[in-house]
Amino acid sequence: MLKAYKYRMYPNKEQEKLFFQHFGACRFVYNWSLENKIRAYESEGESISRFTLNKMLPGLKSEHEWLKDVNSQSLQGATLNVDNAFTRFFREKKGFPKFKSRKNPVQSFSVPQHYNVNFETHKIKLPKIGWVKTKLHRKYQGVEKTATVSVTSTGKFYISILIDDEEEEVPVQQFDENTTLGIDLGIKDFAIVSNGEKIDNPRCLKKSLLQMKVMQRRLSRKQTGSNNRNKAKIVVSKLHEKIHNQRNDFQHKLSFRLVCENQAIALETLNVDGMLKNHTLAQHIADASWSSFVTQLEYKAQRLGKTILRIGQFEPSTKICSKCGYYNRDLTLADRDWVCPDCGSHHDRDINAAINIKKFALDKQNLIGI
Ligand SMILES: [Zn+2]
Repeated sequence: MLKAYKYRMYPNKEQEKLFFQHFGACRFVYNWSLENKIRAYESEGESISRFTLNKMLPGLKSEHEWLKDVNSQSLQGATLNVDNAFTRFFREKKGFPKFKSRKNPVQSFSVPQHYNVNFETHKIKLPKIGWVKTKLHRKYQGVEKTATVSVTSTGKFYISILIDDEEEEVPVQQFDENTTLGIDLGIKDFAIVSNGEKIDNPRCLKKSLLQMKVMQRRLSRKQTGSNNRNKAKIVVSKLHEKIHNQRNDFQHKLSFRLVCENQAIALETLNVDGMLKNHTLAQHIADASWSSFVTQLEYKAQRLGKTILRIGQFEPSTKICSKCGYYNRDLTLADRDWVCPDCGSHHDRDINAAINIKKFALDKQNLIGI
């Protein structure tokens, strides 16, 4: 099984310069590859493979001398990333690959091989860069795959190393109605589960989110390009990072608990396209937070042999009575609870939805079984 290990890096000034050269060159090659792929497709309806692109790299290097200072395997890593972005686009119908900008909050380059990790000296040797101080806070065992170096908008450097631990995948465990949990992801509460539990964001995270609202408002009042605006921007970036860490910690614990306590977890498929069109900040933050939570659930489920079941995003999980199946056409977004006109059950809107998500998901399983 593949597992990623992430460490903080502390390059010296000289190495920092080389890092940024790598970020820039890989971004350049990525955009150049993307452009070539689009052009080939538009003019001849053909696709260029990354092998063809890699063969064109020496020519590109003689046109742009500065690319020669960069690890050529990292440049090939950029062509591979473009290829992967296209595969994802065609297979999962997720957004068309975008050009990379130097303004992206995270910049990265990959080191496919020939790096060297020394846990004793806390250093990692990277081709063309040398030994870089790294906080190697935990050891791994297994075969080293690609490493990725990145920098955040607040100037922190990280390396993420992909390790194949060569362990067999855990066999998938049986599940039934009693061992499956339905989850409805909410806005007011973070998640509502079919056994009736409502899980809220932790207090520290809510406090930071509120602070963010205030900071964003302050930032928007500062003049563009002014010193004060730049200062406020740094404060906002730091707060973003804090929120990211608090959320990560919360979701880590919650997803672990839910996956441990249940054999299967049923979810609604998130509407990624709809999410991107939604402009309010609160909604945006909630969307980003849900998709990272779903990723964590999937990842942990796979490691522990549990199952994630999904239902379609258009299944009317909120409007159907989970007791008798009555379809309540008149239910509006404002109705937080309702009484079923048919069987008289009293429903909490979100808990009812979570129960339905579980039911729909299990129903589908039976159909597949037949
Ligand atoms: Zn009913």
